[in-house]
Amino acid sequence: MSIRQKVLFEIKSIELAKAKAPKKVSSYFGVNTFGLENMRKHISPKTFSAFKVWMSEGKTITLAQANEIANAMKEWAISKGATYYTHWFQPMTGMTAEKHDSFISIVGPGKVIEKFSGNKLIQGEPDASSFPSGGIRATFEARGYTAWDPSSPAFIIESALGKTLCIPTIFISYHGAALDKKLPLLRSDEALNKAAVGLLKLFGHKNIKKVFSTCGAEQEYFLIDKNDYTLRQDLVMAGRTLIGAPSPKGQQLEDQYFGTIKERVVNFMFEVAEEAYKLGIPLMTRHNEVAPHQYEFAPIFEESNIAADHNQLLMELMKKVALRHNLVCLLHEKPFAGVNGSGKHLNWSLSDDLGNNLLNPGETPEDNLQFLTILAAVLRAVYLHADLLRASVALAGNEHRLGANEAPPAIVSVFLGEQLTSVLDMLEKGVKAKVSKRDIIDLGIARLPQFNKDSTDRNRTSPFAFTGSKFEFRAVGSSQNVSTPITVVNTIIADSLDYVAREIKKVTSTGKDFNSSVLKVISKIIKETKGVRFEGNNYAPEWVKEAKRRGLPNVAATYEALEALTEEENIELFEKYKVFSKEELIARYHIWIHMYNLTLEIEANTLNEMVNASVVPAGYEYEKLLARTLDELVRLKKSAGLKVDPAALKDKKEHLSDIVSKIYYVRHNTGEMIKLLEKAKKVSDEKRAELYFKQLKPMMEHIRRHVDDLERVVSDDAWDLPKYREMLFIK
Ligand code: ADP
Ligand code: MG
Repeated sequence: MSIRQKVLFEIKSIELAKAKAPKKVSSYFGVNTFGLENMRKHISPKTFSAFKVWMSEGKTITLAQANEIANAMKEWAISKGATYYTHWFQPMTGMTAEKHDSFISIVGPGKVIEKFSGNKLIQGEPDASSFPSGGIRATFEARGYTAWDPSSPAFIIESALGKTLCIPTIFISYHGAALDKKLPLLRSDEALNKAAVGLLKLFGHKNIKKVFSTCGAEQEYFLIDKNDYTLRQDLVMAGRTLIGAPSPKGQQLEDQYFGTIKERVVNFMFEVAEEAYKLGIPLMTRHNEVAPHQYEFAPIFEESNIAADHNQLLMELMKKVALRHNLVCLLHEKPFAGVNGSGKHLNWSLSDDLGNNLLNPGETPEDNLQFLTILAAVLRAVYLHADLLRASVALAGNEHRLGANEAPPAIVSVFLGEQLTSVLDMLEKGVKAKVSKRDIIDLGIARLPQFNKDSTDRNRTSPFAFTGSKFEFRAVGSSQNVSTPITVVNTIIADSLDYVAREIKKVTSTGKDFNSSVLKVISKIIKETKGVRFEGNNYAPEWVKEAKRRGLPNVAATYEALEALTEEENIELFEKYKVFSKEELIARYHIWIHMYNLTLEIEANTLNEMVNASVVPAGYEYEKLLARTLDELVRLKKSAGLKVDPAALKDKKEHLSDIVSKIYYVRHNTGEMIKLLEKAKKVSDEKRAELYFKQLKPMMEHIRRHVDDLERVVSDDAWDLPKYREMLFIK
């Protein structure tokens, strides 16, 4: 029996104590967070209002006030059992980082007290010199600094033996350059705020003080049994299977999507939800996804910087809780070949401080005009900056999804649905020079209020789809930090909102009335950006041709997609909105190219080891079996006159030769792959990424095909790597 077979018999759910009566969520939601309500209770009213002014107007608090908040936070955390604290941040590697410190402070020989000062709250100085900075920090100033992000509440992470207070922070260099994904997001929200408030003023909204982006990140993931996982080096090292023959049953019966959730999985989901609720993460929806063993969680949307923190936390929780159930949560974009990969649908909208969703069609023609104006701005943003959107989701894992005949393609287009499209067509066809309210009604805009979510048609293949009251950016990878995609969306839309406001002002200054001016401006945009709208099937090969005809970029390779970050006009755009400096942008380009290379090197080296240490020996085992039986037969034929059908004998020989050749191919190609890796060491990171995309990846695919052929024939007893049918179908 192979190790694999032994392990299969061990696969089972863990014993769980039945929950007596599940707690009402409202009774414990957010108990582990130091939110506004908690803060209000623990600090003086004066400090509390200073804090609120800081949040709304950016006027910072004094050190004394920070001390007061730090002390309150400490008291609260200690009362909940926390003994350590950490600044929690999001470095450019895409994970979260933490360095824990105890609250203790020595007050005399052998005597400590718990202490936490405002200084320590506001700024941390982790010796974080190993984080990638892309050249922003010279070695002599290798330190990075963490600075409190008060817009996201501190929270407590529990483990079996203790609790840690986590303080969301940004991560910056000595000179204030962003070394993380969070600071640019905050900056982009500020840019969006200014631009949107400016535009809304033109529409007569004098009382809107703040506009911010909202985000609801639908998180897809796979769950597999930990026993299988442990035996798969590729899953452990690379997060995805590098070899493995697809099982005869995959997702073709479509019997998994929205199917009954298996008890083992639903128990996992209950526990994740409970942990999430304690942290104030508003999880809402859970269901089975299309591929076997694939699932999804979706939260209620929140302000995007909070949503980004919550999504990072959720991913960590999912991994942690899975292990408690002897499951492993796979967040890779493509853990299994031949079935769907996982994405993270980034639902995005704009909200004002009065609670209005600016992507909601309004009740009145004026409201609708405003809605259409913002819509036009979004169209312009996507049309002009598809390259940046593509760059924001460029990573090795996502390369397996985008443009690979499965959601969504690397071509960025916008889906609006039939109803909106017909409104835009009307606008495009011609608007009278002078438009009264009456005319707007005639244009059919007044019918928009009935345009609600339920009546919107869906196009699941579109990378940027309008879904009733928000846009859904579907190209984001499942493992990705959403901060960067949101940063890009915010910035390009801020730019377009500014543009629209400027153009409207230009036209009104010629004496035209406001409504007609707006219609003139947006009609022009609608016409100019028409090419970015696509209502058809984005997976169809015809779309690739059509998109090319329309001049839309279609960038499959990560290294090429990332080049957008180095282009002069893009640098200008980000500098103009103070989201990224040139230095920060170029640093990201270098880091992400480098990470792509490292990812591929890990994959290739893992593949090499699996082939040589596992696949080939299994092949030899089988080869031996075949050779022996052949030998035996021939001997018996001779010595005992055993009757053997010549065709059968021929077949046996061919089978053996075939196995011998397959093993040879696999070994030979793996050797070539290692040579390529050696060659790649001599070239620059950029060239290396290109080499990996153009040569290494096809080579790995080629090796995989031969290995998978072997897997289908080699004796089950000799094969130690868990197979697809086992990983994906045994629950
Ligand atoms: P759908 O059926 O379009 O996927 P749902 O209502 O299920 O719509 O929402 C999907 C996700 O979109 C959820 O996470 C939800 O919170 C989020 N969402 C809804 N409205 C907004 C909004 N205004 N801004 C950002 N995200 C939103
Ligand atoms: Mg959705």
